[in-house]
Amino acid sequence: MTLSVKTPKCKVHKCDMRLRSKSHQTAEQKWCGAWYDCLEPSCNNSTLIPSKPLQELYKEHMATAQYPTKPDVGELIMSIPPHFIVDRDVVQEVIEFLSLFVKQKQR
Ligand SMILES: [Zn+2]
Repeated sequence: MTLSVKTPKCKVHKCDMRLRSKSHQTAEQKWCGAWYDCLEPSCNNSTLIPSKPLQELYKEHMATAQYPTKPDVGELIMSIPPHFIVDRDVVQEVIEFLSLFVKQKQR
Protein backbone atom coordinates (compact mmCIF):
# COMPACT_ATOMS: atom_id res chain seq x y z
CA MET A 1 0.00 0.00 0.00
CA THR A 2 1.30 3.42 -0.83
CA LEU A 3 -0.07 6.39 1.03
CA SER A 4 -0.15 9.49 -1.05
CA VAL A 5 2.12 12.29 0.12
CA LYS A 6 0.93 14.68 -2.55
CA THR A 7 -1.61 17.35 -1.70
CA PRO A 8 -4.98 15.63 -1.96
CA LYS A 9 -7.54 16.92 -4.43
CA CYS A 10 -11.24 17.37 -3.77
CA LYS A 11 -13.07 14.67 -5.70
CA VAL A 12 -15.94 17.04 -6.41
CA HIS A 13 -14.07 20.23 -7.25
CA LYS A 14 -10.79 18.76 -8.53
CA CYS A 15 -8.90 21.48 -6.67
CA ASP A 16 -5.97 21.08 -4.29
CA MET A 17 -7.07 20.75 -0.70
CA ARG A 18 -5.60 22.89 2.04
CA LEU A 19 -3.71 21.48 5.00
CA ARG A 20 -5.82 22.18 8.10
CA SER A 21 -4.24 24.37 10.76
CA LYS A 22 -3.29 22.36 13.82
CA SER A 23 -4.53 25.09 16.12
CA HIS A 24 -8.18 24.22 15.44
CA GLN A 25 -7.81 20.50 15.89
CA THR A 26 -8.64 18.20 18.75
CA ALA A 27 -5.93 15.98 20.18
CA GLU A 28 -7.56 13.02 18.40
CA GLN A 29 -7.53 14.79 15.07
CA LYS A 30 -3.87 15.72 15.46
CA TRP A 31 -3.08 12.16 16.42
CA CYS A 32 -4.75 10.77 13.31
CA GLY A 33 -2.50 12.64 10.90
CA ALA A 34 -2.61 15.48 8.40
CA TRP A 35 -6.10 16.71 7.50
CA TYR A 36 -6.82 18.45 4.24
CA ASP A 37 -9.97 20.41 3.49
CA CYS A 38 -11.55 21.60 0.27
CA LEU A 39 -11.52 25.39 0.00
CA GLU A 40 -14.77 25.64 -1.93
CA PRO A 41 -17.54 27.23 0.15
CA SER A 42 -20.10 24.74 1.41
CA CYS A 43 -17.88 21.80 0.44
CA ASN A 44 -17.25 19.59 3.44
CA ASN A 45 -14.86 17.18 1.80
CA SER A 46 -11.77 16.42 3.79
CA THR A 47 -9.00 13.88 3.49
CA LEU A 48 -6.78 12.38 6.10
CA ILE A 49 -3.20 11.35 5.48
CA PRO A 50 -2.79 8.85 8.32
CA SER A 51 -0.08 9.46 10.89
CA LYS A 52 2.51 6.86 11.88
CA PRO A 53 0.51 5.91 15.03
CA LEU A 54 -2.65 5.49 12.96
CA GLN A 55 -0.79 3.35 10.45
CA GLU A 56 0.55 1.35 13.39
CA LEU A 57 -3.03 0.87 14.53
CA TYR A 58 -3.97 -0.45 11.10
CA LYS A 59 -1.02 -2.85 11.35
CA GLU A 60 -2.14 -3.88 14.80
CA HIS A 61 -5.59 -4.67 13.46
CA MET A 62 -3.93 -6.68 10.76
CA ALA A 63 -1.73 -8.56 13.20
CA THR A 64 -4.52 -9.47 15.59
CA ALA A 65 -7.08 -10.41 12.96
CA GLN A 66 -7.60 -14.12 12.66
CA TYR A 67 -8.36 -15.90 9.45
CA PRO A 68 -10.69 -17.70 8.94
CA THR A 69 -12.39 -16.99 12.27
CA LYS A 70 -12.58 -13.35 11.25
CA PRO A 71 -12.61 -13.43 7.47
CA ASP A 72 -14.84 -10.43 7.10
CA VAL A 73 -12.74 -7.43 6.19
CA GLY A 74 -15.79 -5.26 6.68
CA GLU A 75 -15.96 -6.31 10.28
CA LEU A 76 -12.33 -5.30 10.79
CA ILE A 77 -13.02 -1.93 9.28
CA MET A 78 -16.07 -1.51 11.48
CA SER A 79 -13.82 -2.02 14.49
CA ILE A 80 -11.76 1.06 13.58
CA PRO A 81 -13.29 4.06 15.34
CA PRO A 82 -15.42 6.05 12.87
CA HIS A 83 -13.55 9.30 13.27
CA PHE A 84 -10.53 7.65 11.66
CA ILE A 85 -12.47 7.03 8.50
CA VAL A 86 -13.72 10.24 6.98
CA ASP A 87 -12.79 9.84 3.38
CA ARG A 88 -13.59 7.27 0.75
CA ASP A 89 -9.94 7.13 -0.34
CA VAL A 90 -8.87 6.27 3.19
CA VAL A 91 -11.52 3.57 3.36
CA GLN A 92 -10.34 2.28 -0.01
CA GLU A 93 -6.75 2.13 1.20
CA VAL A 94 -7.76 0.33 4.37
CA ILE A 95 -9.75 -2.19 2.35
CA GLU A 96 -6.82 -2.79 0.01
CA PHE A 97 -4.48 -3.05 2.94
CA LEU A 98 -6.66 -5.59 4.75
CA SER A 99 -7.40 -7.60 1.64
CA LEU A 100 -3.66 -8.01 1.08
CA PHE A 101 -3.55 -9.53 4.53
CA VAL A 102 -6.45 -11.85 3.84
CA LYS A 103 -4.82 -13.00 0.60
CA GLN A 104 -1.58 -13.65 2.42
CA LYS A 105 -3.35 -15.72 5.07
CA GLN A 106 -5.15 -17.79 2.47
CA ARG A 107 -1.91 -18.98 0.87
ZN1 LIG B 1 -14.78 20.43 -2.77
